[in-house]
Amino acid sequence: MERREKLYEGKAKIIYATDDPDKNILYFKDDATAFNGAKKGTILDKGVINNRVSAKLFTLLAENGVQSHFISRFSDREMLARKVDIVPVEVVIRNYVAGSLAKRMGRKEGERLPQPIVEFYYKDDALNDPMINRDHILVFGLTTAAQIDQIRETALKVNRILSDYLLSRDLLLVDFKLEFGSWQGGILLADEICPDTCRLWDKHTLEKLDKDRFRQDLGKVEEAYLEISRRVCGDF
Ligand code: C5P
Repeated sequence: MERREKLYEGKAKIIYATDDPDKNILYFKDDATAFNGAKKGTILDKGVINNRVSAKLFTLLAENGVQSHFISRFSDREMLARKVDIVPVEVVIRNYVAGSLAKRMGRKEGERLPQPIVEFYYKDDALNDPMINRDHILVFGLTTAAQIDQIRETALKVNRILSDYLLSRDLLLVDFKLEFGSWQGGILLADEICPDTCRLWDKHTLEKLDKDRFRQDLGKVEEAYLEISRRVCGDF
């Protein structure tokens, strides 16, 4: 397998073609952005850690019956993945009140929700990724009814698998964002699952061990990413 031309550069990743038309290479950068690019910085070795954590979690999900675009880790910072067409809907699952939910509903961060909340956002940087619902998705043809229902069910299954695994590593999965892609007429889980896209708190101290440390200038950002890598991928 050989890396070929750059297809797309996003805020955290670069997508390259390969000599196989059905496969891409995702290169994970250390660049960090928040608030839709308004805040910029670098988190040392974030790309290596996000690649490693994503590989571990996609493998765990595959073992539990959730297929994704992930094929293998190609190098420290590169993932070999099935070439999907990303559905322009970001799916957020929440288990505890935090972030934009705390603001929107005027609730204190940390409250455990009686059941998970599933939210959809329209993936469009120019519009600031506005929240949408199932009707918007269908009326504007972002995907089909069958596919959005499958995406929702899969996202809830991912939540159950990841919440249990992370709890066994003394981590609370507070909330997270997933992306999906069309692939061979079906839908596959795609993108990445890592401390950039998940809120992860220590189970005992509730210390934040994710990108909120960067967003909120809490310090010890690199240390938090390393700790997640150790707990998720190492012998814990
Ligand atoms: O900001 P908000 O509370 O809506 O974020 C919910 C979850 O989705 C957080 O875990 C955050 O890291 C993730 N997210 C993301 N990419 C976005 C928006 C949110 O990974 N563009």
